[in-house]
Amino acid sequence: MTRRVALLGKPLRRRHSVVMHNAAFAAAGIDGEYVLAEIDESAVPGAVAIARQPGSLGLGVTAPYKALVASLVDEVEGDARAIGAVNNVVRTGDARLIGFNTDAPGFRVGVELAMGGSLSGADVVVVGAGGAARAVVFAALSAGARRLTIANRTVESAEAIAQRFRGVGSGVVTTVPLDGDEVVDALCSADLAVNATTVGMTDPGAAFDIELLPSGATVFDLVYVPAETPLVAAARARGLRAANGSEMLIAQAAIAFERWTGEGGMADVMRAAVAPLLADPTARA
Ligand code: NAP
Repeated sequence: MTRRVALLGKPLRRRHSVVMHNAAFAAAGIDGEYVLAEIDESAVPGAVAIARQPGSLGLGVTAPYKALVASLVDEVEGDARAIGAVNNVVRTGDARLIGFNTDAPGFRVGVELAMGGSLSGADVVVVGAGGAARAVVFAALSAGARRLTIANRTVESAEAIAQRFRGVGSGVVTTVPLDGDEVVDALCSADLAVNATTVGMTDPGAAFDIELLPSGATVFDLVYVPAETPLVAAARARGLRAANGSEMLIAQAAIAFERWTGEGGMADVMRAAVAPLLADPTARA
């Protein structure tokens, strides 16, 4: 029997996850498939019920169904509960559905690769306060960031995230508006500056001024379409360490695949499979 993982969301514009997971199924010799299920909200409970059937390994979940699916599964793991988002579900042998989150561990893998070191003790600026920023802030504080500044256009959203995660780890969390002197001060002393906005993907330009960063800083852009965002290009031109979000994307897919199948070590297979899509300038953002 072909085992299946369906990605629930609407709209589903990107094929990156399909390409990575199906390459991993083939490499692992598993008769399995990862399929896109672009469905209306009214069909989500039915899709979750199907995920309980023996042919299913679990689900991927993306906008706008992360909260709805969390309410339909049997258990939500601690990190996913803390972050407030389930982006994957695994079906256990006794047909229970467990929701988990791979954004936070995926970010940690990607960013520590980019930094060439650990987040522990780091002075971090996160620009953005949407869904991805929640996982980034949780991951950075859990990994021992010393100081964490959340900068956002809408400062109330930054404050909501700060309130949610103050107390995770021992880092000091502050919030600042995206324009003004405070963000300048924060960037001037940052070890790591993260773009967790959609700027660079949906809007042209860079989310913050990389010229403010110290020469030893790392720039990490969650955006991975286009492959070289204006932010990453500017940081590299200045000689800073810089990476886009592709390694985070690959790491979180590999973590999910291992939860569904028990097969670890699929990051290299996934990276090779998704490389043409990541390099394709016409791939849809
Ligand atoms: P989201 O929830 O829609 O949040 C968008 C964020 O961008 C908000 O903080 C918003 O600020 C800010 N923003 C949007 N337009 C802006 C502008 N013109 N100027 C300044 N700030 C602006 O999005 P998300 O789900 O967090 O995703 C954020 C990015 O991360 C996306 O590009 C997504 O593709 C990427 N991502 C990558 C990975 C990966 O694996 N690499 C994983 C998850 C997400 P306001 O609050 O002021 O509106």
